[in-house]
Amino acid sequence: MIDKIISGDVTSIVSYFSPEIFRDKNVLITGGAGFIGSYLCETLVQLGATVVCLDNFSTGLTENIDHLFSKKNFQLITGDVSKYENREKLDYIFHFASRASPDDYQLYPVETLLANSQGSYRLLEQARKDDSIILFASSSEIYGNPDVVPTPEDYLGKVSSIGPRSCYVEGKKFSEALFMAYHRKYGLDSRIIRIFNTYGPRLRGDGLYGRVLSRFILQALGGKDLTVYGDGSQTRSFCYVTDLIQGILLAISNGKVNGEVINLGSPSEITIMDSAMKLMEIVGRKLNISFYPLPEDDPKRRCPEIRKVKELLNWEPRVNLEEGLKKTFEWFNRRV
Ligand code: UDP
Repeated sequence: MIDKIISGDVTSIVSYFSPEIFRDKNVLITGGAGFIGSYLCETLVQLGATVVCLDNFSTGLTENIDHLFSKKNFQLITGDVSKYENREKLDYIFHFASRASPDDYQLYPVETLLANSQGSYRLLEQARKDDSIILFASSSEIYGNPDVVPTPEDYLGKVSSIGPRSCYVEGKKFSEALFMAYHRKYGLDSRIIRIFNTYGPRLRGDGLYGRVLSRFILQALGGKDLTVYGDGSQTRSFCYVTDLIQGILLAISNGKVNGEVINLGSPSEITIMDSAMKLMEIVGRKLNISFYPLPEDDPKRRCPEIRKVKELLNWEPRVNLEEGLKKTFEWFNRRV
C-alpha cells in the first residue's frame, strides 16, 4: 500500500500537469525502483502513461513499486540497463539507472561506469529507432569541486578523472557527450538534466546507500550520534523530491529543452552542520554529533544557478527545507 505522505506528494505533482500530455504514451524509466525513479513511475502511471520500469535492484527496492503491480499500465522488467535489448516503440525514455551514493558506487565502479555508458548507448539506439524523446539524469557531480558557486550550466567542471568519485563523474560526463552526439549527428530529441542533492521519503539512509539527510534522520530515530564528516562547513543545496519530479516532467514535455542541459536543484545553500541543526529543531531535542574525516574528493560547496531552467520552464523549487525535512522525518518515523 502506498504511504499517505507519498500519495499526497504524487497528487500534488499530478495536479500540475494536464493529463493529455502523457496519456497512453509508452514510457521507459530505467532505475524505476529507486528513489527518484519510483516517484516518476507513480506519477506517470497516475497521469495515464503506459509505464515500463527497468531495474536491476542493485539499489532500488521492490517495496517502492510493488503496489503498482496491480495497475494495467505498469510493467516491471528486472534487468541491467547495460544489457538492455530494444523493445516495442517508446515515446519517452528516462535514463535514471545508476548507483548514486558515493560510498556505494565506489564499491561498484565498473557497474557504475557501464550503466552510464553502455546503458546510455543502448537506450539512445532505441530512441533513434523509435524517434523517442530521451532524457538523461546527469548530476551536479560533473562540476566536481567548483570555483563558481552558484554553478551555471556552462561552468566546465573541476573534476578528477582518476579519483575515487571518477567512476560516477566520468560515466555521467560520457553520457552527456553521447546524448549530445546523438542530438547533433542524428537530430535526436535528447535532453540532459543535472540533478543536485534531492531528498524525501524513500531516499535510502541505510549502510553504504545512505545519503546525508536520510542518514541523519535514521541516526536521530535510532538514538545515535549524527555523523558529520569533516567540520561540517561543506555545503549542499537540498531539493525536495516533488519539486524535482515536477522539473523532470516539465523538462521532458517542453520542446525548449530539446538538445539542452539544465540544472535542477534548490538554490538554497546550507552547510552540513546547519542541516544537522535544522533536523534537531524538527526532532525537538539536541542530538550529539560525532565528527569523522572528510572523504577524499568531497566537494566543498554545491549549489545550482537556476536562471536557465527558470527562463526555459518557469520552474523553481517551492518546498523549503523545514517543510520537506518534516515530511521526510515523519515518513521515516512511521517505518522504524
Ligand atoms: N555527510 C556527512 N555525514 C554523513 C554522510 C554524508 O557529513 O553521514 C556529508 C558528505 O561528506 C557530503 C554531504 O554530507 O559533504 C553530502 O553527502 P551525500 O553522501 O548525501 O552526497 P554527495 O552530495 O556527497 O554526493
